Parts: sequence; C-alpha cells; structure tokens
Amino acid sequence: MKIKSAQFAVSAPDLASCPPSALPEFAFIGRSNVGKSSLINLLAEKKDLAKVSDLPGKTKLINFFTINGNWTLVDLPGYGYAKVAREDRLEFNTAVRDYLGQRSNLRRVFVLIDSRLPPQEMDLKFVHWLGQRSLPFALVFTKVDKQAIQHSRNAIEQFRQALAKSTEAQPRIFASSIVTKTGRSEILGFIEQALTQAKGKFVLAPMMRGPVRDSAEAADEPEAASE
Ligand code: GDP
Repeated sequence: MKIKSAQFAVSAPDLASCPPSALPEFAFIGRSNVGKSSLINLLAEKKDLAKVSDLPGKTKLINFFTINGNWTLVDLPGYGYAKVAREDRLEFNTAVRDYLGQRSNLRRVFVLIDSRLPPQEMDLKFVHWLGQRSLPFALVFTKVDKQAIQHSRNAIEQFRQALAKSTEAQPRIFASSIVTKTGRSEILGFIEQALTQAKGKFVLAPMMRGPVRDSAEAADEPEAASE
C-alpha cells in the first residue's frame, strides 16, 4: 500500500468523544517505550505524525490519524499493571477498554512487543484479554535491528509458545525496525488485505450490524518474522 496522505484527525479522552465511525480502524498499542510512535511514523512515512506521545497528558488520549482518506490509524494509550490486594492486575485506561470493547469499526489491534525481551507477563495478559473477547489482533515485535535476527526469532517463538498456553488465537506476527524499515510493507499489505476483505463483507452482508469480529482471523496463517 502506498501512503498518499496521513493526517492527524482528533484526540479523544473517552469513547463518547471518538469521531463518528465512518472508516475502518487499525489500532496500535503497547507498553511505553516499545516503539509505537516510531512505528506509526514509519508506516505513515511522516517523521512527526505521532509525536503527540511526547506531550504529557496526551499519552492518555486516543489519537486518530486518517490515512489515504480511507482508513484510520488509531494510537492507543498503553497498558500497565496495578498492584491490587497483593495481586497483579492488568490495568489500562477506561477509554481503551471501552474503545476495544465497543468500537464497531475496529478491524485489527496491533500489539507491539519489544523483541529484545523474554515474554512479559503484562503483554501476555493483554493479548489473552483480547483473545477472550475474540478481538482480531496481530503482534509486532519491535526494534529487531538492535540484535541478531536469531535472538528476535527466539523471542518470537518463546512468546508464541507462552501465548498458546492461554489462548487459541493464532495471530499474524510481524517483526519491525525503524532503522531498516523491516516490517513496513508487510504491515501495510496486511492492512490493505483487511480493507479489501471489509469491502467484500459489506457487499455480502449489508444488513450486518455491530462489531465485525472476524473469525476469518483463524485463516490468517501465523507468519514467520520477516528478515
Ligand atoms: P513509544 O513510547 O512506544 O511511542 O516509543 P518511541 O517510538 O518513542 O520509541 C522509544 C525509543 O526507542 C526511541 O528512542 C526510539 O528512537 C527507539 N526506537 C523505536 N523503534 C526503534 C527501532 O525499530 N529500532 C531502534 N534501534 N530504535 C527504536
């Protein structure tokens, strides 16, 4: 997919403030510092598109970017842990929870994971949460230029195995680097394919209402990390 235009649209503090859901949405989420802003800028080929994350306060907002006038890239605030009564609990803001749970035009969630780390409980729990809700997601292992490719492959495999213990979802997996631009064309191609499928679905099922939870996800073969 060629990016012809990428524009910041709006920031929303909660679901009610999100813009009317006209275009298909592709959301990006991950722990702070995972490389989310960098990846968004790489995909959009705009250096400062996602610089909003640098501004304190803005990091808690859901940011919408209109791409090519026909889809929306959604930058979600990250997630973390809260220590509650001696128990670690997956914690992310209400806006994100509502958005993920209720946004009817959400097509995919891209969960960003640092390729240099062994499987992190927090990432696994979040992905498990998505799986439980049948939300279609893909994984993006970031910063693969920072280490030998074999280390990234091992990290991806470890994560995949850990994930298999808690969910049956078999997400597409991408490796990314803003230095070598690894993953850019694969992720954009994946989005393009999802956009085409969305069109087909609309033609086939014009009366369908509500969130499209594409079980067709299962047909997405897990993909080895690209070099
Ligand atoms: P965010 O907090 O998830 O939005 O993370 P940023 O995009 O701000 O990135 C955090 C840091 O990691 C910055 O210093 C980036 O330059 C760096 N970074 C992000 N992605 C990559 C990557 O693919 N390769 C390398 N080498 N550094 C990266």
